[in-house]
Amino acid sequence: MSDTLSRREFLGAASGLAAGAVLGPELGVGRGAPAVHIQAASKNVAVASGNGLRAVQRAGELMAQGVDTLDAAIEGVKIQELDPNDASVGYGGFPNEEGVVQLDASCMHGPSRRAGAVGALEGIKTPSVVAKYVLLYTDHIMLVGEGAKRFALSYGFKEENLLTDRAREAWLHWRANRGSRDDWLDVPRDERLTIREQGTINCNVVNSRGELSSVTTTSGLSWKIPGRVGDSPIIGAGQYTDNDVGAAGSTGRGEANIKVCGAFLTVEFMRRGMKPTDAALETLRRVIATSEPRLLDEQGRPTFGLTFYAVNKKGEFGAAAFTPRRYAAFDGETAAHHDAAYLFEREP
Ligand code: ASP
Repeated sequence: MSDTLSRREFLGAASGLAAGAVLGPELGVGRGAPAVHIQAASKNVAVASGNGLRAVQRAGELMAQGVDTLDAAIEGVKIQELDPNDASVGYGGFPNEEGVVQLDASCMHGPSRRAGAVGALEGIKTPSVVAKYVLLYTDHIMLVGEGAKRFALSYGFKEENLLTDRAREAWLHWRANRGSRDDWLDVPRDERLTIREQGTINCNVVNSRGELSSVTTTSGLSWKIPGRVGDSPIIGAGQYTDNDVGAAGSTGRGEANIKVCGAFLTVEFMRRGMKPTDAALETLRRVIATSEPRLLDEQGRPTFGLTFYAVNKKGEFGAAAFTPRRYAAFDGETAAHHDAAYLFEREP
């Protein structure tokens, strides 16, 4: 099974765009978003959530070798998906309230303007790759649950137990302590309680030809209600790419992001001329404006976390969160952690 965006797809997309520029509306070009003319990046750049240092390094190296931007981004995030010590993504991700690991992922390929996603996928370690297969081989955008698993198995993905011993123990602690009126005995007071974890990896890239792609993959909120799907597999929320403008994505409370289509909104703010960091900050302000009062403290600060990461076609990048946080970026030369912009000094 091929694991790369095929040359046929890539060239097909490129020639489609070239023809569209001449033929206009017949091919649908010109009916979409307003045209913008942004000078393309002259370097390879990748921006990701804080757990994505290895991802941006890998994506940067691969783009330097001429690998397609989506393939490079997915190879990057796969490192976290396959890492049993990252409890927020893929193998080793914390399970839902029944102890089952359900994974979400989505991706977009700028040059071909295509998207793919999977939701509540069980038993497959690399949902980002399955999302890419949806993009490549179907006329659909999102497959979920059992259907997504059968789709993956048909391409030779292996079904595996994703619940590591560490994740199982964390889940058992949570189950024992979730309430005092259930049939589970609480664990002793001095035993460390496991908190509700969040985590995800988002990676957005642009190459030296100005081609963009994005991917987000997660095990979602730990102890979630079975079947819950967050923002990560939602195109426009968990990630979004417009090859004329930029790419953006998020980590954090998916329910808050879905309501503002945050990745799409961040790209739209960049289309209007905002720098990636300013666009991400503006999206966070919109999130606050649409948040239910129960999720804000008395000073109007969100009681949840959410971070947006963005890169534009020129290769400028940035991230913003409610409170201080680090993110990872490859700036064309080195991979490093950077400070995200933020709205509030500290957590409520
Ligand atoms: N955004 C993910 C979700 O809501 C979780 C996270 O990033 O922490 O599923």
